[in-house]
This record gives sequence, structure tokens and C-alpha cells, in this order.
Amino acid sequence: MKVTLSKYAGFCDGVERAYEIVKEIAKKPDIKRPIFILGSLVHNEDVVESIEKMGIGKIDFDGKVEEITKKIDKKIGTLVITAHGIGPKIFEIARKKGVDIVDTTCPKVIKVQRLAQAFFGRNHQVIIIGEEKHKEVQGIHRWARRKSFIVSSKEDIMGLELDISRPITVISQTTQNRDWVEEMAEAISKKYPQAEIIDTVCSTTRDRQSEAKELARSNDLVLVIGSPASSNSNRLWEISKDINRKTYFIERLEDIKEEWLGNCEKIGITAGASSPRWVIREVVEYLKKV
Ligand code: SF4
Repeated sequence: MKVTLSKYAGFCDGVERAYEIVKEIAKKPDIKRPIFILGSLVHNEDVVESIEKMGIGKIDFDGKVEEITKKIDKKIGTLVITAHGIGPKIFEIARKKGVDIVDTTCPKVIKVQRLAQAFFGRNHQVIIIGEEKHKEVQGIHRWARRKSFIVSSKEDIMGLELDISRPITVISQTTQNRDWVEEMAEAISKKYPQAEIIDTVCSTTRDRQSEAKELARSNDLVLVIGSPASSNSNRLWEISKDINRKTYFIERLEDIKEEWLGNCEKIGITAGASSPRWVIREVVEYLKKV
């Protein structure tokens, strides 16, 4: 079987950086223990398990700060913030309770958080294009004092009632489908021509999505490796499926079904930003032998 692996498959720079930081602090005796990560470092069970084996715990967290406040207490030595980022309140709570913070927020996400904060501070109405419940979006929303407007559909845009005498700034979740973000931005511009659109889709996400289109066009079948909980993996699947209906979503090697491979000579493989190298390698090696 001819297998083409996306050159962008697997951990993006932000996730790789977060994972390296966690591995590093796990070895350092001067880091206050116990260490806990706020939520999953990445949406991948194997990676989460490998982190647990380093002696680092996890606090379940879906972005709702109100529910987590009580869980941050003196029993925690160090709290790790994931690459998705978080609102400012958690830093404040941790400081008050004497909990150390290791912040692995991706620098590209920090940039979007700062844009939200700065424009809100200048009395702009900030619109975020993205999934309302996503951790990254919730974090960005909180940097705009929870007063931004999160839109996930054209209906949401129709329902916006903004003050047209005040400036409007539009940003987006970094891992969204670029074409969709452009469509949404266009709809916002139609309704509010004064809106300033800032392109905040991450360049890694953009490259990965462009390549997924190419793989879908040039292969009989495409496999997208990722977690169902991973936003960027789901976007890759949607993008590829639109072009090649033989696009399948898998989390690991065991999910591949033999019947998919009949009459198939060329397979394209891509993977979300939270898919570890070892899972991708296993899949590629297996398919090369089919
Ligand atoms: S997808 Fe982009 S913005 Fe998100 S963590 Fe990775 S590098 Fe950072």
C-alpha cells in the first residue's frame, strides 16, 4: 500500500512545547509537589496516561472557572496550565492559595488572549468565532472580562445585537477551519461593515488543513488520527470528508476496519495537533505492510 503521511501530522509546536515542559518539571526536585494539570494536556488518552506515569495528576476541567475554584487548594503544590490557555482568574486564585503555576499556554493562544483583552479595554465589542464550550474559547472570552460575543453559527451572527456606535473587533479560535472562519467573518462584515477582522487561525492549523485537502484529492482513502474531543482533528476530518468521502477518523491503530482498505492503493494520513508520534508511526508501519 502506498502511504503518504502529512508533514504536519501530530503534535503542533504548542503541544510539543507543553509536553516538553511537563516532562521537564516532572524530573525537577525543586518544583512544589504534588503537581496537577488543569484538564488534559492534550486530547489523547495515551499521552494523558504517560503523564500520569510521571507522577503528575489531572484535575478535570472543561473551562468553567466557577466549578474549579474550590478544587484549587493548598493540597496542590504546582498547577500546570495547558496549551489551550485559561482566563486570568485562575492565576489570581492560585496566587491567593499559595499554589505555584507552570503556564504552558501556547504563545499563539496568548496572542489572541491579549488581543481580546486589549480591544475590550479600548471599549471595542469583541466577537470570537469558535466553539462556545471549547477551553481555548472560554479562556479568551475571560480575557475580555466574559463580555465578548462567541459565535458558532450564522444564526448566532443573526442574533447579535451590537451597539453600532462602538467599534467591533473579530477574532477566532486558533484551531478552527479557516474556510469556515472566513465565511463567518464575511457574514459579520455584511451585518456590521465597520467590524475589524483579525486573522487569528494558527499558521500550523492552516498548513495542516491545506495539506489535508491535498491528501483528500490525491488518495483513495484518508485516515485522520485524533481524539473525538480534539477540535482541530474534527476540523481535519470535515475538510477531508468534503473532498473524499472515504475519510475515516481513528484514535489508534485498532480502530482501522479491514473493509475500508478493499480496492485501495493509496492512503493519505493526517493527524490532529494532539496525536502522539508513536500512534502515528504504528498506523503508518501497519498500512505499509498491507
Ligand atoms: S494549534 Fe497552533 S495555537 Fe493551538 S496549540 Fe498548536 S501551535 Fe498553538
